[in-house]
Amino acid sequence: MLQHILSGWKNYLSKSAVTEIVAQQRASICATCPHAKQGKILAFIKDSLKEAEGAYCAACHCPLSAKVRSNDICPENKW
Ligand code: SF4
Repeated sequence: MLQHILSGWKNYLSKSAVTEIVAQQRASICATCPHAKQGKILAFIKDSLKEAEGAYCAACHCPLSAKVRSNDICPENKW
C-alpha cells in the first residue's frame, strides 16, 4: 500500500498526461463517493484536479491527489 501511495505522489509531482486523464476520470468518480472526505492538513496541498484537492478516501485513508494517480485500486471497486 505505501509503495502504491509513494508511486502516486511521484506521478502527482511529475504529472504525466496519460496519468492525468486517468486521474481525472477517477477523481470524478471519487467526487460522488461518500467515502471522499475533506482533510484539514490536505487542504494546504493544491491540485489541478479540484475533485481531489484536499480530499482523502475514508475507506483506505489515502490522500486522493496521490491515490487517483497511483497504481492502487479503489477499495470499493468503483474504479
Ligand atoms: S477511492 Fe473509491 S472508495 Fe475511496 S473515495 Fe474514491 S471512489 Fe470512494
